[in-house]
Amino acid sequence: MGKGKFPTDHPLGQGTRLAIAGRDPEYTGAVVNPPVWRASTHLYADTAALKDGTRHNEDGRFFYGRRGAPTQWALSDALTALEPGAEGTVLYPSGVAAIAGALMAVLSPGDVLLVTDNAYEPTRNMATGLLKRFGVQTRFVDPLDGAAFEASICSATKAVLLESPGSLTMEVQDIPALTAIARQHGVISIIDNTWATPLGFPALERGCDIAIMSLTKHVGGHSDLMMGSAAARGDLYRTLRQTAQALGHVVSPDDASLALRSLRTMGLRLDRSTHSALAIASWLKGRAEVAHVLCPLLPGAPGHELWTRDFTGGCGLFSFVIKGRSAAARSQLIDALQLFGIGYSWGGYESLAIPFDPAGNRSATPWPPSGWDTGDRYGIRLSIGLEDPADLICDLATGFAAMEQADMEQE
Ligand SMILES: *Cc1c(COP(=O)(O)O)cnc(C)c1O
Repeated sequence: MGKGKFPTDHPLGQGTRLAIAGRDPEYTGAVVNPPVWRASTHLYADTAALKDGTRHNEDGRFFYGRRGAPTQWALSDALTALEPGAEGTVLYPSGVAAIAGALMAVLSPGDVLLVTDNAYEPTRNMATGLLKRFGVQTRFVDPLDGAAFEASICSATKAVLLESPGSLTMEVQDIPALTAIARQHGVISIIDNTWATPLGFPALERGCDIAIMSLTKHVGGHSDLMMGSAAARGDLYRTLRQTAQALGHVVSPDDASLALRSLRTMGLRLDRSTHSALAIASWLKGRAEVAHVLCPLLPGAPGHELWTRDFTGGCGLFSFVIKGRSAAARSQLIDALQLFGIGYSWGGYESLAIPFDPAGNRSATPWPPSGWDTGDRYGIRLSIGLEDPADLICDLATGFAAMEQADMEQE
């Protein structure tokens, strides 16, 4: 087995690929997992070897800790092996750092960046704050309108940042169509693929040039580490790598080791949480208190058809919108939950719930969307973990009862 590559004589299943990805004996030695190489300094045999070391800048060649060591290389090789079409994968200290690193790698002052209106809030803030300060203009676009997307491309447009399904509101975009338009205009397509991972959406195969993940979510999977990644084809990979080195991006070998360990079970965890999420979403759809279930896994829900066409898997993250109640009523529901934690992030083994109000974070599309009752606007996002779905459903039923009770006491 070469570096992170698979035997090519027959296609391997997902479980097999996850079990063998990146297990290069050069990094692992005679044990199964690569040891944690805690290293800044690499010692050379003599001054000639030291001088020779500066001549090569490539993965797998020890130089100095900022360029990584075998533990980090094993993780990036594994991620590359799982992303069809990728030349390599750069690791970053967080998902946000991966987004910043990829954008700074491809954008220059005077360029225009397109961002889908459903983007993760820190992505939006990065575009309107940091990137603006460096002379990059951002236009936000309706994630579901291909014609408007094409019309918003101008001669200065350099890149588009897609996110599908969108953060909180879960819009599924027609990525093959949007990336084809982008390519025709010479625009680089970057996707935040944290939700699906390459197991559920092979982004480069679907037309994207750079695929970003917050490894904090599904790859970490246990709510105990922060990391990000960006995978790309040949030239773009080299640009990402150079920029990450210039910015001093480096991840700890301890975190890389944890992430690699969790990666081996990611397929099992995603399958389990996808099944549970579908069961819970179906149950929510039948509740009178719920106006909309925003879960592409659910037949009939927005984005389900595109999800079925383009995705090979899902995960446990989805949202629902309460019918006509106040934000206070929604808080009663969430505060009554016993099994769901209240907190940011997602993709861990434990379930989480947070309230969301995207209205203030949109500029190209309205919230609530046109066609909805204006009173139906308060959302709850659930991250479904590995608990038994029947227990989670019971917990949500308790939450709905608490919301009713609070309403009756008010009257
Ligand atoms: C959490 C998240 C990020 C940021 O990841 P961090 O590792 O928390 O910095 C980026 N994109 C999406 C869609 C996320 O949910």
